[in-house]
Amino acid sequence: MIIAIDGPAAAGKGTLARRLAAHFGYPHLDTGALYRAVARRLLDAGQEPTDEAAAVAAAHSVGAAELGDPRLRDEAVGRATSVVSALPAVRATLLDFQRRFAHTPPGAVLDGRDIGTVVCPDAEAKLFVTAGAEERARRRAKELRERGVPAIDARVLQDIKERDARDSSRDTAPLTQAADAYVLDTTQLDPDAAFEAALAYIATRDT
Ligand code: C5P
Repeated sequence: MIIAIDGPAAAGKGTLARRLAAHFGYPHLDTGALYRAVARRLLDAGQEPTDEAAAVAAAHSVGAAELGDPRLRDEAVGRATSVVSALPAVRATLLDFQRRFAHTPPGAVLDGRDIGTVVCPDAEAKLFVTAGAEERARRRAKELRERGVPAIDARVLQDIKERDARDSSRDTAPLTQAADAYVLDTTQLDPDAAFEAALAYIATRDT
């Protein structure tokens, strides 16, 4: 079974995806980390995130090994990532990798922005995980502070809103909810409650 999880930044997709993957014994692909790894490579090389040729070259050489690099979570990388990920050639380059991962038996959990709509429109279970922008900013600021990065809530909120706008308005694979996705609003839910709600939905899809 393929479980596709989409939604805006800091809505709780990653936590939910990891828990579902552990529960079902499936591998998990954080597709945001793929785009972040491309952006990180460009920043390290002093290249602009708008440089399409450089970004495509980086996308071809990105490997699974670098997806766990904690530097991928830096806010500067996050900002560059939403620029890089708007480039159609970058998205096309990363599509094969994601589809191969998804279609390897016995199943997989993928989280991102366009999994249920573009990468795996055939996924058996599709979740659109969302939360209010203020709550998402509060969670992201807390996560940054826990990592020792000073974070100002208002600044993080502004970043989240800018990222939402870029991710939702780009021409290629914008952040949109698949028509057949189950919407999980986590604004008032803790991770356990979100997990239980997701399991209950998946049980209805697991044939
Ligand atoms: O999920 P995360 O915040 O790590 O994603 C970082 C950025 O990567 C997003 O803001 C978005 O621009 C991009 N992304 C994407 N498509 C995906 C996953 C992430 O465009 N499937």
